[in-house]
Amino acid sequence: MNVLIVFAHPEPRSLNAALRDVAVAELAAQGHAVQVSDLYAMRFKSGIDRDDFPTLPQDVRLKVPGASKVGYAAAALTDDVAAEQAKLLWADVLILQFPLWWFTMPAILKGWVDRVFAYGFAYGVGEHSEARWGDRYGEGVFAGRRAMVITTTGGWKEHYSPRGVNGPMDDLLFPINHGILFYPGYDVLPAYVVHRADRLDAAGFAAAAEGLRERMRTIATTPPIPYRRQNGGDYLIPACELRPELGDPSAPGFALHVDDRPREPGLTRPPA
Ligand code: FAD
Repeated sequence: MNVLIVFAHPEPRSLNAALRDVAVAELAAQGHAVQVSDLYAMRFKSGIDRDDFPTLPQDVRLKVPGASKVGYAAAALTDDVAAEQAKLLWADVLILQFPLWWFTMPAILKGWVDRVFAYGFAYGVGEHSEARWGDRYGEGVFAGRRAMVITTTGGWKEHYSPRGVNGPMDDLLFPINHGILFYPGYDVLPAYVVHRADRLDAAGFAAAAEGLRERMRTIATTPPIPYRRQNGGDYLIPACELRPELGDPSAPGFALHVDDRPREPGLTRPPA
């Protein structure tokens, strides 16, 4: 398989860089082709602005979605964005790797998403009508491909547990896993998280590296998070609300969008 790692850490000697090298080596050993977009090393522009749309007339007010739609359709986005889009189309698997900063990804990686996931490419695709609300949440340009997050935290695992003060890690990563990756169609694998990273000693690094190698060895077979597909029948369209008979009404929130009904071994979602 072709694997793209989009990497966001400013220091080449960082823990994250060392873990990235572990992942690249194991993927290569498994016969996968790997590309890395090292965003800080590339000095990737992190803020979307007028310069992203060179063909937009100066006297026209910038409206980002519209400019993105026109620019993408005309192949008139900037070369750095077009190059990242080409890498995404090449990749069977996308990995986003970053240290958790303020409970989310570093700004440079968010900017990569803002700029590269253009209108007509990663969003705004498909029919929008009373019967259908676009090709998204399980459908879209990346349907059939896999994606996952690799991240490190300063906080303990317990701080991110279901009752932990930081909030559950699954909830914190929901906007990335569901909102950024599942939205344009990826099957999203559970994140690989290294906790208490600032205090990692040699033994801790060895354990973290071995866990990561195992995840890279199984990247083609790890079952994805069974998010519900928007157009799979679980949601009322066009409201895009989960049908009232589905999910646990006493536990609203992000977990509602994971289909936890029993499934047969080997199936990643319940039979229809
Ligand atoms: P580094 O600083 O590069 O290394 C960490 C440790 O790993 C070092 O002590 C190093 O000795 C050790 N190490 C062991 N083996 C190796 C090796 N082979 N190579 C390199 N290092 C090794 N944490 C949270 O939990 N939640 C937050 O919301 C959060 N917000 C943050 C916001 C900001 C702006 C910043 C700067 C930090 C934040 N943190 C937060 C902490 C952050 O998540 C950690 O600092 C980060 O995950 C550590 O990863 P790193 O790659 O930067 O580690």
